[in-house]
Amino acid sequence: MKQLSCDDIRQLHMQLVQMRTRLLDEIQTAEVDIKAAHEALEGEGRGGSDASAIIRFEELRRSEIEIDENHLRSVEEAERRMNDGLYGVCTDCGKPIARKRLFALPTAIRCTECEDSSLSELT
Ligand SMILES: [Zn+2]
Repeated sequence: MKQLSCDDIRQLHMQLVQMRTRLLDEIQTAEVDIKAAHEALEGEGRGGSDASAIIRFEELRRSEIEIDENHLRSVEEAERRMNDGLYGVCTDCGKPIARKRLFALPTAIRCTECEDSSLSELT
Protein backbone atom coordinates (compact mmCIF):
# COMPACT_ATOMS: atom_id res chain seq x y z
CA MET A 1 0.00 0.00 0.00
CA LYS A 2 1.43 3.30 -1.12
CA GLN A 3 1.00 5.99 1.51
CA LEU A 4 -0.23 9.44 0.58
CA SER A 5 2.51 11.87 -0.31
CA CYS A 6 2.60 15.45 0.93
CA ASP A 7 1.55 16.46 -2.54
CA ASP A 8 -1.46 14.09 -2.44
CA ILE A 9 -2.53 15.57 0.88
CA ARG A 10 -2.18 19.07 -0.50
CA GLN A 11 -4.32 18.22 -3.51
CA LEU A 12 -6.96 16.48 -1.42
CA HIS A 13 -7.01 19.37 1.03
CA MET A 14 -7.58 21.76 -1.87
CA GLN A 15 -10.49 19.61 -3.04
CA LEU A 16 -12.00 19.68 0.45
CA VAL A 17 -11.66 23.46 0.65
CA GLN A 18 -13.34 23.80 -2.75
CA MET A 19 -16.14 21.47 -1.68
CA ARG A 20 -16.71 23.50 1.47
CA THR A 21 -16.78 26.80 -0.42
CA ARG A 22 -19.31 25.40 -2.91
CA LEU A 23 -21.52 23.97 -0.16
CA LEU A 24 -21.50 27.19 1.85
CA ASP A 25 -22.37 29.06 -1.31
CA GLU A 26 -25.28 26.71 -2.05
CA ILE A 27 -26.60 26.99 1.49
CA GLN A 28 -26.43 30.77 1.33
CA THR A 29 -28.26 30.86 -2.01
CA ALA A 30 -30.97 28.57 -0.67
CA GLU A 31 -31.36 30.77 2.42
CA VAL A 32 -31.78 33.83 0.22
CA ASP A 33 -34.43 31.94 -1.78
CA ILE A 34 -36.28 30.99 1.40
CA LYS A 35 -36.24 34.60 2.57
CA ALA A 36 -37.61 35.72 -0.80
CA ALA A 37 -40.28 33.01 -0.61
CA HIS A 38 -41.31 34.29 2.82
CA GLU A 39 -41.62 37.79 1.51
CA ALA A 40 -43.63 36.60 -1.49
CA LEU A 41 -45.89 34.65 0.86
CA GLU A 42 -46.51 37.73 2.97
CA GLY A 43 -47.36 39.66 -0.17
CA GLU A 44 -49.77 36.94 -1.26
CA GLY A 45 -51.57 36.80 2.04
CA ARG A 46 -52.85 33.53 3.49
CA GLY A 47 -55.48 32.92 0.89
CA GLY A 48 -53.23 33.63 -2.08
CA SER A 49 -53.41 31.12 -4.91
CA ASP A 50 -49.63 30.84 -5.15
CA ALA A 51 -49.15 30.22 -1.42
CA SER A 52 -48.97 26.43 -1.64
CA ALA A 53 -46.48 26.57 -4.51
CA ILE A 54 -44.30 28.95 -2.49
CA ILE A 55 -44.48 26.67 0.55
CA ARG A 56 -43.52 23.64 -1.57
CA PHE A 57 -40.59 25.56 -3.01
CA GLU A 58 -39.47 26.55 0.46
CA GLU A 59 -39.66 22.95 1.70
CA LEU A 60 -37.58 21.81 -1.26
CA ARG A 61 -34.93 24.41 -0.53
CA ARG A 62 -34.90 23.44 3.15
CA SER A 63 -34.27 19.79 2.32
CA GLU A 64 -31.47 20.86 -0.02
CA ILE A 65 -29.89 22.84 2.80
CA GLU A 66 -30.10 19.77 5.02
CA ILE A 67 -28.29 17.63 2.43
CA ASP A 68 -25.63 20.31 1.94
CA GLU A 69 -25.12 20.61 5.69
CA ASN A 70 -24.58 16.86 5.94
CA HIS A 71 -21.96 17.06 3.19
CA LEU A 72 -20.39 20.00 4.95
CA ARG A 73 -20.08 17.98 8.13
CA SER A 74 -18.26 15.18 6.29
CA VAL A 75 -15.92 17.73 4.68
CA GLU A 76 -15.15 19.20 8.11
CA GLU A 77 -14.62 15.73 9.56
CA ALA A 78 -12.12 14.93 6.77
CA GLU A 79 -10.31 18.25 7.38
CA ARG A 80 -10.17 17.55 11.10
CA ARG A 81 -8.62 14.15 10.44
CA MET A 82 -6.14 15.81 8.11
CA ASN A 83 -5.13 18.23 10.87
CA ASP A 84 -4.78 15.34 13.30
CA GLY A 85 -2.63 13.43 10.81
CA LEU A 86 -5.23 10.67 10.66
CA TYR A 87 -6.42 11.39 7.17
CA GLY A 88 -6.54 8.38 4.88
CA VAL A 89 -6.79 5.92 7.77
CA CYS A 90 -10.02 3.93 8.09
CA THR A 91 -11.97 4.89 11.24
CA ASP A 92 -13.24 1.32 11.58
CA CYS A 93 -10.30 -1.01 10.93
CA GLY A 94 -7.39 1.46 11.12
CA LYS A 95 -5.98 0.34 7.78
CA PRO A 96 -4.99 2.85 5.12
CA ILE A 97 -7.72 3.87 2.69
CA ALA A 98 -6.79 3.34 -0.97
CA ARG A 99 -5.38 6.45 -2.59
CA LYS A 100 -7.70 5.98 -5.57
CA ARG A 101 -10.71 5.96 -3.28
CA LEU A 102 -9.65 9.19 -1.55
CA PHE A 103 -9.18 10.97 -4.85
CA ALA A 104 -12.60 9.82 -5.98
CA LEU A 105 -14.15 10.69 -2.62
CA PRO A 106 -11.98 13.06 -0.53
CA THR A 107 -14.45 12.88 2.38
CA ALA A 108 -14.07 9.10 2.75
CA ILE A 109 -13.19 8.17 6.33
CA ARG A 110 -13.59 4.43 5.91
CA CYS A 111 -12.02 1.92 3.55
CA THR A 112 -14.12 0.24 0.87
CA GLU A 113 -14.40 -3.02 2.82
CA CYS A 114 -15.72 -1.33 5.98
CA GLU A 115 -18.04 0.89 3.99
CA ASP A 116 -19.45 -2.14 2.19
CA SER A 117 -19.95 -4.15 5.36
CA SER A 118 -21.69 -1.23 7.09
CA LEU A 119 -23.99 -0.91 4.09
CA SER A 120 -24.86 -4.60 4.08
CA GLU A 121 -25.62 -4.41 7.81
CA LEU A 122 -28.29 -1.84 7.04
CA THR A 123 -30.09 -4.04 4.55
ZN1 LIG B 1 -11.71 -0.29 7.15
